[in-house]
Amino acid sequence: MSINIQEIRSQFPVLTREVNGKPLVYLDNGATSQKPKFVLDVLDEYYEKYNANVHRGIHTLSQEATDKMEEARRKVQQFINAKNDYEVIFTRGTTEGINLISNVLREVLTAEDEIIITEIEHHSNIVPWQILCQRTGAKLKYIPLTKEGVLDIDQLDNLLTDKTKLVCVNQVSNALGVVNPIETIIEKAHQKGAWVLIDAAQSAPHTKVDVQAMDCDFLVFSGHKMYGPTGIGVLYGKEDILNSLPPFHGGGEMIKDVSMEVSTYACLPFKFEAGTPDIAGIIGLGAAVDFINSIGIETIHNYEKELVDYTIQRLSEFEEVEIYAKDAEHSGAVSFNLKLDGVHSSDVGMILDKKGIAVRTGHHCAQPIMQHFNIPGTVRASFAVYNTKEEVDIFIEGLKTAIRMLG
Ligand code: PMP
Repeated sequence: MSINIQEIRSQFPVLTREVNGKPLVYLDNGATSQKPKFVLDVLDEYYEKYNANVHRGIHTLSQEATDKMEEARRKVQQFINAKNDYEVIFTRGTTEGINLISNVLREVLTAEDEIIITEIEHHSNIVPWQILCQRTGAKLKYIPLTKEGVLDIDQLDNLLTDKTKLVCVNQVSNALGVVNPIETIIEKAHQKGAWVLIDAAQSAPHTKVDVQAMDCDFLVFSGHKMYGPTGIGVLYGKEDILNSLPPFHGGGEMIKDVSMEVSTYACLPFKFEAGTPDIAGIIGLGAAVDFINSIGIETIHNYEKELVDYTIQRLSEFEEVEIYAKDAEHSGAVSFNLKLDGVHSSDVGMILDKKGIAVRTGHHCAQPIMQHFNIPGTVRASFAVYNTKEEVDIFIEGLKTAIRMLG
């Protein structure tokens, strides 16, 4: 499918604004993407035309809201190729999806068990496992990084044991934009009988995620990074595993029957969706999936790859620039620093902001990676389908100014 970027850009109202007197160049999509008018309209439509609580009501508005919400669930199911729509659990985001699993595993794990994560995780795929291990006595192990900053996957065989219950890894690193070898990790973990949780926060917006093909046991992502609203995300889990786990939050929607002594729980997905869900957010996420499908995730992937490759090529022109894990496969983002004494990533970010260019600086909620490189942070340029090579050129010009000013 060919891609008409100007037509795509015209769907994003915020892209017409100026920042500090300059046209906005938004390269902070790894933090959150902008939203197309189509998604904004669907949110408005929900609140203006059929706002009602779901699943309980006999009246028309409630039924309409329920239908739209369950339609969104099926859209997400198709988007990630889940076998069943009830394997799609709505959460507040990636963080909540991981915390959901880590909390319910408190009743499942013992001090005999082990969890493996990696040195390249976002804090939200580290801290919940540290808490779980503190509470259960289970052991937390890490797949280390090589000097270059990619996973030292050869170490996995030594780390995996018969005690390994779970392996958690992101498909794409938010801090470096590096693609991780999740196929190998899933295969090896399964050989030991361990479950695998994939953090797809940085992959779902950029690449085809097929949970059946990858055969992961859990997968989590956030709507706001893929053109959808904030406050909505997805936890996918295999049916039999989700059924085997205890519930997370207790409350309305997640029960079958409640007596004063005891309750029985609803079937999937409702068992894990206590309380009134983010109905607008869910419907908005469905619209975001429609938006992605209107272009095609493969088309988005190929186009963004061109942008990332071009950015790496242009950044390589400067001897003052150090690109992290430069030769690794990248998706959606590039991280770098200026090799200038006393210069912090935020200095670069502030100069770029004066030129209307939005990048992220700092540790990107991935401090172990920063410790690995012995740096406080990096500058990260991260992309979405509405970015252009012209914007990369503007960013590079901005960087030249930063080098001049800070050098
Ligand atoms: N994992 C990764 C790889 C991420 O990039 C992010 C967001 N930066 C998260 C987890 C957390 O996502 P959220 O804040 O939407 O829950």
